[in-house]
Amino acid sequence: MTPAETQALTLDARDALAPFRDEFLIPRHTDGSEQAYFCGNSLGLQPRATRQALLDELDDWRDLAVEAHFRGKHPWMPYHELVRENLAAVVGALPHEVVAMNSLTANLHLMMVSFYRPTRERNAILIEKSAFPSDHHAVASQIRFHGHDPATAKIELEGDEPGGAISSDAIVRALDEHGERIALVLLPGVQYLSGQAFDLRAITTAAHAKGCVVGFDLAHAVGNLPLQLHDSGCDFAVWCSYKYLNSGPGAVAGCFVHERHAQADLPRFAGWWGHDPSTRFEMGPQFTATAGADGWQLSNPPILALAPLRVSLELFRRAGMAALREKSIALTGYFESLIRSELAEVIEISTPRESERRGCQLSLRVRGPREAGRSLYDHLHANGIVVDWREPDVIRAAPTPLYNRRIDCLRFVNSVTQWATARR
Ligand SMILES: *Cc1c(COP(=O)(O)O)cnc(C)c1O
Repeated sequence: MTPAETQALTLDARDALAPFRDEFLIPRHTDGSEQAYFCGNSLGLQPRATRQALLDELDDWRDLAVEAHFRGKHPWMPYHELVRENLAAVVGALPHEVVAMNSLTANLHLMMVSFYRPTRERNAILIEKSAFPSDHHAVASQIRFHGHDPATAKIELEGDEPGGAISSDAIVRALDEHGERIALVLLPGVQYLSGQAFDLRAITTAAHAKGCVVGFDLAHAVGNLPLQLHDSGCDFAVWCSYKYLNSGPGAVAGCFVHERHAQADLPRFAGWWGHDPSTRFEMGPQFTATAGADGWQLSNPPILALAPLRVSLELFRRAGMAALREKSIALTGYFESLIRSELAEVIEISTPRESERRGCQLSLRVRGPREAGRSLYDHLHANGIVVDWREPDVIRAAPTPLYNRRIDCLRFVNSVTQWATARR
């Protein structure tokens, strides 16, 4: 064993959160060994308890059918309540500010229906230039839906730092320059491509001062960073649950609406599940919104899709976001220092260096032609090291604190060294 391996294993053995790895099913490489899985930013691994939770619901459906709405092991009628407290804790919200429903992009549209209310003078949306395509599509289509032109009404914030990160100054400058015509500021909690984390509270304060509504896309922030959504003061937020929240492909997404809008008479696209539950089953034609985020629900929730979220959030409750973040800072810091010391000639890191400006993901660029990046990516996969490739030239690697270890990071670095040596 090399000294580096001894050190990695010693640090892993001291890790108080290490037992959580055993709560997950780690996929195997073709040689039978466990993969070094760095793709929790794309699809989190399956918790062991998820299978039984799904079987429980299938059994209730088999044995109780419609009665399971009230008599199930986890009654279906109030099922979304089972995730509320833990979800609120993960994002730092009051329980009635959050709801689990739909998918991320669907929730983004529902939120924009209520919170993007363009006028002639103020109709623009500020979004980062490198935003996830779905967010660009949602924003542009909302702008068009209201009769405006994305060419002028979609204002794109460009990265102004070397790795592509967006400085606070750039955000302030954009607000100073365009604030009067911006109806909505829509920015990420953690940017999917660069891995940069944003100061939600500072953005909200600056944007509100210019009269803009503020929403956040937390796809890469939820379950990655401890969030204080309520205190940030933002108007709404949306996220998905299949990335760091480990709730399975296409999992039920989440939505936050700040308490100050809980009773507001906002325009919205309504459905019966958003109707006040005390009178919902009177089946009248008049819509009375449930106060809080629940008032944006459309349909009765998909129980089979919510069960994995319930299981996963329970793991987050047990581990605690604060402890996870502490480990995450150490783990990503270890990964970064290895890359900087061993691979400086091969790889550059575009994610900000300061731990408070990133989550667990590091975005990596291979020095040299783009083809070299693809070649490294292929080499890693052939060796059971799972990272992802994002066009045009980014390898994303996310050591997540629930199931990744130092030894995984070291395996990554050794494998890159092997690839670089063979290419010389
Ligand atoms: C993953 C991700 C999405 C995916 O949207 P879905 O509606 O869940 O398919 C959207 N936006 C961002 C920023 C993402 O990271």
